Amino acid sequence: MTTVGTADAAPGERATGRLEVGEGRDGAPVSLPVCVIEGLEDGDTLYVQAASDGDELNGVGVVNRVVPMIDPAELAGTVVVVGIVNVHGFLQNSHRNPIDDTKLNRVYPGDAEGTTSERIAAATFEVAREADLALDLHQGSTSRMLDEVRIRCGRHHDLHDACLELASAFGTGFVLDQKGPDGQLARVAADEGIPIVDPELGGAVGWDETSIGRGVEGVLNVLGDYGFLDREVERSTQVRAAGFDRYAAARGGLVRYEAELGDRVEAGDELFRVTDVFGAERAVATAEESGVFWRTRRLPQVASGEYVCSVGTDVDEV
Ligand SMILES: [Zn+2]
Repeated sequence: MTTVGTADAAPGERATGRLEVGEGRDGAPVSLPVCVIEGLEDGDTLYVQAASDGDELNGVGVVNRVVPMIDPAELAGTVVVVGIVNVHGFLQNSHRNPIDDTKLNRVYPGDAEGTTSERIAAATFEVAREADLALDLHQGSTSRMLDEVRIRCGRHHDLHDACLELASAFGTGFVLDQKGPDGQLARVAADEGIPIVDPELGGAVGWDETSIGRGVEGVLNVLGDYGFLDREVERSTQVRAAGFDRYAAARGGLVRYEAELGDRVEAGDELFRVTDVFGAERAVATAEESGVFWRTRRLPQVASGEYVCSVGTDVDEV
């Protein structure tokens, strides 16, 4: 039997419920939607969470589709899912938690007596720390980004190789292997000895079905690769970047890209042009270093000095 909040699942069962994380401004309890899938056979526990950034809905889309696909009768081990972490942000479609204007994935491991965000982090970390593996589903917010998996513990961490294995098993084809900021679940859980990655499933306003499909496949790949499900998984080579170069517009106007997300670019290659309303060219931006065309802004209009795109740098294959 596995219990998370009000969800209790016996072997061979799937149960949903709520995990209390405090009280709202109206005095009513605030809780997160949780699901426990308890396999008929014993095994490890996979923890999955989505929407710690409240506007990152592709992860919720993955949970929404993959949970019904996991048959507890076929499962060895346990899958625990927190479907919406930043519930306050989700309700208002905001990235940060609007109650305390905080980015939730900067306050792990949290504090059960702390701010609203710290309480949510503490409640979810208490669940995550019981797991053997963890996935924290994100996306490049509302910008356009390729589907990638982030390893946040840093390359010198004891768990780095285990996190890289997990990223390869998830298998979107792209990995960002760069130590993350303090307070990320992907840092704190790794410090507790739990291999963890942040799948970053594209970028969208609302749901992007292609990225959600890759996320569903990724979760099923992990379940197959780590022996939760009897599923053939073929590992593929991952293109890995160590960081980003960010490019801004030299002049204001409308952006047209000269590369597609995922393209290899060499130093000197054109990345984008800024044009005026009537199509006349105002500026051309070229890559300073080689890398992979990784992320762009969503809207075409830019001011001079405004962010346009990112190129993943120090690229290798793993
Ligand atoms: Zn995020």
